[in-house]
Amino acid sequence: MKNEKKTAGELLADKLLSNHKHAGLLLEDEEIAKASEFCEDYKAFLDTAKTEREAVTEAVRLAKAAGFKEFERGKKYKAGDKFYFVNREKAIILGVMGKLPLDKGIRLAAAHIDSPRMDLKQNPLYEEQEFALFKTHYYGGIKKYQWTAIPLSLHGVIVKNSGEKVTVNIGEDENDPVFCVTDLLPHLAQQQMKRPAAEIVKGEELNILVGSMPFKDDKVSKKVKLNIMSILNEKYGIVEDDFMSAELEVVPQFKAKDIGFDRSMVGAYGQDDRSCAYTALRSILDIKKPQHTCLTCLTDKEETGSDGNTGLNSSYLPYFIDDLAKVYGFEGHNVISASECLSADVNSAVDPTFQDVTENRNASKLNYGVVATKFTGARGKSGTSDASAEFVGRVRKLFDENNIIWQTGELGKVDLGGGGTVAQFIANLDMEVIDLGVPVLCMHAPFEVTAKIDIYMAYKAFSVFFAD
Ligand code: MN
Ligand code: MN
Repeated sequence: MKNEKKTAGELLADKLLSNHKHAGLLLEDEEIAKASEFCEDYKAFLDTAKTEREAVTEAVRLAKAAGFKEFERGKKYKAGDKFYFVNREKAIILGVMGKLPLDKGIRLAAAHIDSPRMDLKQNPLYEEQEFALFKTHYYGGIKKYQWTAIPLSLHGVIVKNSGEKVTVNIGEDENDPVFCVTDLLPHLAQQQMKRPAAEIVKGEELNILVGSMPFKDDKVSKKVKLNIMSILNEKYGIVEDDFMSAELEVVPQFKAKDIGFDRSMVGAYGQDDRSCAYTALRSILDIKKPQHTCLTCLTDKEETGSDGNTGLNSSYLPYFIDDLAKVYGFEGHNVISASECLSADVNSAVDPTFQDVTENRNASKLNYGVVATKFTGARGKSGTSDASAEFVGRVRKLFDENNIIWQTGELGKVDLGGGGTVAQFIANLDMEVIDLGVPVLCMHAPFEVTAKIDIYMAYKAFSVFFAD
């Protein structure tokens, strides 16, 4: 076959037509092995950092180990200096000072570290039918029925009336108890199954089972509730009203796992967007002395629209850049206007079972590399930052020159739904920005699926962007 000459048509097709392939066919075995190895650290991060607060704590730990120091406002940093700034324990900016002056612009990667989950309400604990339960309010977009009858863990902080703050993490240790949302047996679910899918399990039915043993005292009612409060008081020194000043998040308890006989994929909670957060974090930790000053921003509140003082619709990022710029006599807004950003977020990949929601010529696929998404939004591109052809062209050239396997993507068929990322908020600051991230299956489910090669390519993509 080798000696057979290609026909004129074949040669022309090679030259003119797009020919993206499964990355498993393009990469050497050593490179695929490297991707798997990289994902061992990635899985460990997913298991340690299930909430935005835990992701910040873990990012700080890794940053300190890599020589990063807490940011000092007013300090004149020199090329290669590494610093981090924590915003209210829920967001973090990590930076490495570049050789070029700041008015040449910053290279920014921004990912979010909040994920869909169930938050405890402020008066959560109650007793019903001699069970103790927690009331919740779900956070982000979830299919509520997916969150029943699976093991759950409880993470967060409680601020007592004294001002003391208690950190909670129950369910992750092998010896810890776990929690769950109960669901009906199919035998008695005939009426439930007639509900529309959005209401098969309703918001007020996402109640967390937390106990069933009574406190032995005939004089008190709600003995199971009292018993749970007694256990919590013993363990954390809290009283019921302390829940009012608490942030407690209920997340899937299971650990990150390899998926498939070939172990080519990762299954875990919170890969939207910790697949991008971890890769953007690792890239900034590994960068040495870049030309441009590089920042990785791991932000909160993306899943609820980026509002709030830890979300990217607030001013903490431009304030930070302004602080950085002032020391060198630059205006923050001039630095921002000269900067470029990879808005690091996941993209919905083609699902082999549900292909009717994707237009497969333009949808992203697992194992086809990191996804550059020109625009997101809904309907007529509403609520999006549409990256310019010029900036897409620049990113494309950069990736192609550095052997980054990448693909384009979109968020489903036209008019079928849609969604957004932090890209629009960064673009609104007057920065060049494009969405770049990992293709995901089962997005927003308790167990999300990614491909190891794509994770690794995201890491490499952020790295060449920072180094450029
Ligand atoms: Mn996301
Ligand atoms: Mn999301």
